[in-house]
Amino acid sequence: MTETVTRGEQVHEGKAKILYATSNPDLLIQYFTDNASAFNGLKKGTIGNKGACNNAISSHIFALLEKEGFRTHFVDRPSETEMLVKKVEIIPVEVVLRNVVAGSLSKRMGLDEGAPIKQTVLEYYYKDDDLGDPMINRSHISAFDLASVENMDIIEEQAYRINDWLVSFFDRLGITLVDYKLEFGISPEGVLLADEISPDGCRLWDKKTGEKMDKDRFRRDLGRLEEVYTEMRDRILSIS
Ligand code: ADP
Ligand code: UDP
Repeated sequence: MTETVTRGEQVHEGKAKILYATSNPDLLIQYFTDNASAFNGLKKGTIGNKGACNNAISSHIFALLEKEGFRTHFVDRPSETEMLVKKVEIIPVEVVLRNVVAGSLSKRMGLDEGAPIKQTVLEYYYKDDDLGDPMINRSHISAFDLASVENMDIIEEQAYRINDWLVSFFDRLGITLVDYKLEFGISPEGVLLADEISPDGCRLWDKKTGEKMDKDRFRRDLGRLEEVYTEMRDRILSIS
């Protein structure tokens, strides 16, 4: 990064991150807080050092994805808790990828958590906190103009390819990438992967011990929160 960008006004306060304008109208700063929430905001708390861990993890993964040719919003990590990103118009569709049965899929299909899935499952959810992020399909996305068919084709193709790359990345760390959520946005350059990829939005299970290394520790009161986020950061940053 050659250009010096200064932080401006807050433009959005989310449940875990705050977005700030910058001196460059095309760039935003994503500030990662230690706030944790679950069950659509019903459970709230903080996890020590989570913001810095998630920023380090997301920045590292986005930089590696960029090297692989994927287009993301990532520009730079100007401080421990800040990520400089390209401003996008977020598509209000959460893309969930699943490689092993867990969470809501276990309930919906009546299967035990940990059951294998013979092929990756891709699901869409309407990003709307008031509605509790209901599950939708491509027909809803078109009918209600949430995204164009062309952009959804790009997103779907990218999501499966990102999944292949992420599964093998985590495999090298001795971690099963069980499921996770991606967000995409539109910029003048086209569709970009946005938001974050961190233990907040992924289920990560240690292959040897089976230990949950993600936000399920907060959702399910499993303890050792700060330790596990820090360990995931160290393991992820060890591979480049
Ligand atoms: P939420 O808003 O769901 O509570 P966060 O606390 O993570 O979630 O807030 C971050 C917000 O920033 C999210 O709404 C996310 O969609 C949005 N966002 C992420 N990356 C970008 C970007 N590059 N440009 C604009 N908005 C973004
Ligand atoms: N997820 C997320 N944000 C959401 C919904 C889901 O990051 O608003 C992630 C979640 O962390 C998990 C995956 O997407 O890794 C699948 O979540 P699931 O549908 O099982 O919902 P949950 O039971 O976790 O609410």
